[in-house]
Amino acid sequence: MILGSHCSLKAPHYFLGSVKEALSYGANTLMIYTGPPSNSKRKDISSFKIAEGKVLMEAYGMKMEHIVIHAPYIINLGNSKKPETSQFGVEFLKEELKRVNQLGAKILVLHPGSHVQAGEAIGMEWIIRGLNEVLEEDDSDIKIALETMAGKGAECGRTFEQLAYIRKNIKKSDRIGFCFDTCHTWDAGYDLSNFDAVIEEFDRILGIENILVFHINDSKNPIGARKDRHENIGKGYIGFDILHQIVHDPRFETVPKILETPYVDGNAPYKEEIEMLKKRL
Ligand code: FE
Ligand code: FE
Ligand code: ZN
Repeated sequence: MILGSHCSLKAPHYFLGSVKEALSYGANTLMIYTGPPSNSKRKDISSFKIAEGKVLMEAYGMKMEHIVIHAPYIINLGNSKKPETSQFGVEFLKEELKRVNQLGAKILVLHPGSHVQAGEAIGMEWIIRGLNEVLEEDDSDIKIALETMAGKGAECGRTFEQLAYIRKNIKKSDRIGFCFDTCHTWDAGYDLSNFDAVIEEFDRILGIENILVFHINDSKNPIGARKDRHENIGKGYIGFDILHQIVHDPRFETVPKILETPYVDGNAPYKEEIEMLKKRL
């Protein structure tokens, strides 16, 4: 099982510090943002102690191909009302792919975008146009994992059909995969208590081989609420049993699974949650 959590990336040890943090949770993978998730200021990653981090990873059998990078959530390729915002996202993502490449990671998670009340169809056209431009001159083997969204506000990517429409219109569609977020799919209305049926539907519409990452989160809200509020494992409406079943599903044994559950009283819950989830019942 490839299981880890979101980890911080901060001075003075940067990537080396992120790997140490992951190890302190008993994880064998991790997810990082290359800078603050809520803004686009980025430091040159040459100072990130990447080589030292990789040495430590190797000593503990962690693999670079399982490391997940998350693009900042302020990027919105779908903003047709402010074309400069969409274009800024395009330029940012081009640079982000270079950073991911420098790091040696293979998976970049991206929220497809919000149509900001212009309507889903227009939002998706802008997302497609933006992604095509991002990938046009990028020849790396990094895959962009479009995240399944909760459908809060004007988010695109709430249904598997929307995600399929985006992918099929990308010229380099083999560079596009998906990040299955359990809180988001639940909030979007997919009944994870019948995980096999949800995966069957996913496979029919998107192909299960295109699931590159899982985000494992419980939800503070009932199914279909479209709220996107993550809850600690076993404390929410999805519940422990379903999440445990998902992380142990043999079909996804080599797919990295990342916790993005909230801190509890200022402390990361990941060590305990990873332990709980790893346990065979
Ligand atoms: Fe996300
Ligand atoms: Fe997520
Ligand atoms: Zn979320």
